[in-house]
Amino acid sequence: MEKQAQRIGEGFRGELLRNEPMGRHTSLKVGGPADLYAVPQDLDDLQQLLRQLEGTEIPWLAIGRGYNLLVRDGGIRGAVISLERFNRINLLEGERLLVDAGVENLALVRFGQERQLGGIGFLAGIPGTLGGAIRMNAGAYGEGILERTVSLTLLRNGMVTVFRMDELSHGYRRLDLLPGDLVLSATLQLTPRDPAATEEEIRRDIELRRSKHNVGFPSAGSFFKNPPGQAAWRLIDAAGMRGAQVGGAQVSPVHSNFLVNTGRGTAADFLKLAAQVKAAVLEASGITLEEEVRIVGEEA
Ligand SMILES: Cc1cc2nc3c(=O)[nH]c(=O)nc-3n(C[C@H](O)[C@H](O)[C@H](O)COP(=O)(O)OP(=O)(O)OC[C@H]3O[C@@H](n4cnc5c(N)ncnc54)[C@H](O)[C@@H]3O)c2cc1C
Repeated sequence: MEKQAQRIGEGFRGELLRNEPMGRHTSLKVGGPADLYAVPQDLDDLQQLLRQLEGTEIPWLAIGRGYNLLVRDGGIRGAVISLERFNRINLLEGERLLVDAGVENLALVRFGQERQLGGIGFLAGIPGTLGGAIRMNAGAYGEGILERTVSLTLLRNGMVTVFRMDELSHGYRRLDLLPGDLVLSATLQLTPRDPAATEEEIRRDIELRRSKHNVGFPSAGSFFKNPPGQAAWRLIDAAGMRGAQVGGAQVSPVHSNFLVNTGRGTAADFLKLAAQVKAAVLEASGITLEEEVRIVGEEA
């Protein structure tokens, strides 16, 4: 692997880091090192890198800003690819935007607002990139990004391919893609909106999140999905797990679906705590919670 990995950098124009601690790239601030951490400069750079990785059978994983990612303490054998330099937004006809995967959600909402377009205000307070939002079908207040998505441009088997949303299955916090699919960009349908109305949406969102989500420690937002017709936080509360702690990982006393890093948490602490929460909820309510946070990497 070491020898093969040494060759990977050849011709790469972006940034390539080796043994990069993933705690630097995830909001939970835990996770061992990735063998390679690559930030391609553009599509050519990305495609060349993927060809090299696939040629040497080195696995890879795309990430956004790591706001929904728990990396195990042993880190990631293979490459992590960040599309943070894919950050253009183009205004298309018919109130549509073509948005690159690396664009930050708030910047996207602001871009629309400046052009008197809206309808995606719910995204403003969701931290992360468009790529991460699409992959997770991120949403809030009953709205999800994929409802606003007309088409996706994916890199599938090395080919740039455009899919209409009705060609892809998706649901609550779920988009079914094939392993190895990479989201390059999305075309979003916006609607005409007074910029002041968008400003008010953003202000209300920030206010609400400040009062409900101000947990004071690093988190990945909601750790578990809401089961149909239920709120995960309520089930966790009813199971008596609010405030429960394993090492440096804690069920936030402020919001019991947020697991927070009180300082020296490890991924193992989070995994143990999550397992305890699931067991307690199952016993109290008969419901099995499912993680919303993506868990990747190797045990230490
Ligand atoms: C305080 C806080 C509040 C939050 N509130 C919300 C909320 O209200 N609603 C909500 O839905 N989420 C919420 N989240 C979770 C998180 O912000 C979202 O899931 C967000 O969309 C993650 O974006 P990201 O760019 O950080 O993706 P990452 O966490 O980096 O990645 C998420 C997943 O997407 C994959 N991925 C990322 N980019 C690509 C790509 N280009 N192609 C293919 N796969 C890719 C990754 O491999 C991973 O599986 C919150 C998180 C925090 C910390």
